[in-house]
Amino acid sequence: MSAPLSHRWIECFALTLGLALVAGAYAAEGHVHGEPAPRVETATMTDAGEPDIRPNLKALAKKNERREEHAEAPAAKEPAKEPAKEAASKEKDKGKGAMAKGGASAPGDPKSAVSMSELRDLIDQKVAEVRAKQSAAPVVKIQSRSAKLRRDPSLQPAMYAPGKEGAIPTPADAAKVSSGGHGGKPAGVSLVDPHGHEVHWAYSGDTGPESWGMLKPEFQQCMLGKRQSPIDIRDGIPVQLDPIQFDYHPAGFRVIDNGHTIQANVDPGNSFTLQGKRYELVQFHFHRPSEERINGKQSDMVVHLVHKDAEGKLAVIAVLIDQGNAHPALQLVWNALPLEKGMEQASSVPLDLNLILPEHKQYFTYMGSLTTPPCSEGVLWMVMKQPAQMSREQIGIFARMYPMNARPVQSAQGRMIKDGQ
Ligand SMILES: [Zn+2]
Repeated sequence: MSAPLSHRWIECFALTLGLALVAGAYAAEGHVHGEPAPRVETATMTDAGEPDIRPNLKALAKKNERREEHAEAPAAKEPAKEPAKEAASKEKDKGKGAMAKGGASAPGDPKSAVSMSELRDLIDQKVAEVRAKQSAAPVVKIQSRSAKLRRDPSLQPAMYAPGKEGAIPTPADAAKVSSGGHGGKPAGVSLVDPHGHEVHWAYSGDTGPESWGMLKPEFQQCMLGKRQSPIDIRDGIPVQLDPIQFDYHPAGFRVIDNGHTIQANVDPGNSFTLQGKRYELVQFHFHRPSEERINGKQSDMVVHLVHKDAEGKLAVIAVLIDQGNAHPALQLVWNALPLEKGMEQASSVPLDLNLILPEHKQYFTYMGSLTTPPCSEGVLWMVMKQPAQMSREQIGIFARMYPMNARPVQSAQGRMIKDGQ
């Protein structure tokens, strides 16, 4: 009885050592856990940044005629019966010596001996792969920005993985174009800021949202502001809100790809009135996924209708968009997509702006900011409760240009949120 028991212990030790080796190799590839998940930067990273052990385990699992999405756990617990000999014989290295010791002294029952050798082979193969990659693979830059800016990590959204629907990522140079979403320059676009400098900001990488506030003094609000947008809308105070009096009509519009979103600059004459104040619609644009959340739920997209009052104060109406039926009115925007960034293309047909609004006009409201640099505050937000719909194809069109252009949710910081009944 005692001999098999001690073999068991040796096996256990070998298994632990093996897993430690795999874990070490895995960490060496840059999979550092406990850091905030870096946002996916490019397709290159999506493709090349996942050199994990799944393929090998999947191969094993396949041999066992079992396919599972998360192969790690089941395969480790119950390795396949046939060892991956061809793969294992590719390379032997240092780790092998220690492992062989444990394995050789474990004659135990043949079944568990086979399992152990499979595990060793797998570990050898993994270690060899990692070493090969370290010496040959191009470096994928993954930088945590948590040290730069102390924000509550819980406020960061779950990692959004673009490219799932075959989306083509935004070209990196898109970040060089200024004048984004809600901006103060609705009627045009410039590739430089007012001082003649190129403005770099983006939704990922070194110029991503957590760095916006440090890119330029004018962007400080992005970092220091206390009433930033977007937010996760929850725990609003249920009240009867004044209805928004829309005065929307069919209107001409010009579409521009400003490097941060697709925007439609709308001809004058459309507005809404709230509490005696008239806000004129200037432009509307899109984000994917939705920037705002409602009780934590993010929609597939959102359209922001940006209005200005006579004093220049901004009010944005957000209409969330879920995947569903095609949206004929918004298709007109896609139809007028310009061939070149920064160039306006006029639509040949007017768009009835009422068709962007949901049938039911209940809304949440709170005070926030622009969701793009310079993140100016004092923006009145109204988020419509009823979402609109766009077809998968329509969302896919936007995703080809902008797979991810949503600022992470910001702290609500005890702000008043009204929940219109
Ligand atoms: Zn926006």
